[in-house]
Amino acid sequence: MRGGGRSTIHQGMRAMFVERLRAPLLKLPPGSSLRRSVLRRIVGAAWPTYAVANKAGSKEIFLTFDDGPHPLYTKQLLAVLAQNGHKATFFMTGRQAAQHRSAVTEVLDAGHRIGSHGSAHLDWEKASKRNRFKDYWRGHKELEKIVGSRVKLFRPPHGCVDLVSLAAAFVLRARFSMWSSDSLDWQLQASTASMVANVKKTLEPGSIVLFHDHIVHNHEAQDRTQTVAAVERLLQHVEELGMKSAVVPLRGRNG
Ligand SMILES: [Zn+2]
Repeated sequence: MRGGGRSTIHQGMRAMFVERLRAPLLKLPPGSSLRRSVLRRIVGAAWPTYAVANKAGSKEIFLTFDDGPHPLYTKQLLAVLAQNGHKATFFMTGRQAAQHRSAVTEVLDAGHRIGSHGSAHLDWEKASKRNRFKDYWRGHKELEKIVGSRVKLFRPPHGCVDLVSLAAAFVLRARFSMWSSDSLDWQLQASTASMVANVKKTLEPGSIVLFHDHIVHNHEAQDRTQTVAAVERLLQHVEELGMKSAVVPLRGRNG
């Protein structure tokens, strides 16, 4: 009972916190450019981005793929994206990236962007705060080692926005990248049609869209054929609307 009450309070606070974080990026007070850049570094670096503010006339959306890379499905997605020059962002776990280094290279060589997504994709409800922070850090550094340069985007597993992940984004100097449109392709009953419908419901210029190129269920990698098909169908829809998928920008106003 006591535990349940605490958990309700925790959920309420979490919802409030997330709502606050959804607010547009703080308007910085006037001041010297140094002070402004320091403030931006402190506040902006760890500020979660759910969508990218739509510049006048811009018709970009931002497809993102989590939990990979996968030796088969990541490559299939690259082929689909390449058909009409779409770009995407892949939030990779350190563990998958280390096992499939050539897939990491192929993603980058094709002009896409990568971000980190922890190392072992820990369950945020089971892992301690300390272990989660260490895992976020480790995943980021593993990825940087494979790539040979700085990785500038970070997305915590399960989209867990709390002080641990905010602190990680800050110390890693990475843009905290969330999403505004979820295909729900991680649900076991998801189909190609349901994924496309879920994204269409919320899609608009500036949307950051969530898919997965690798998912483990009961210790086994799931078939992602339906995700690949959904992305192909969604991109046809996006093109019909005169829009295009681009990489999540490293800077720019949050939407
Ligand atoms: Zn994930």
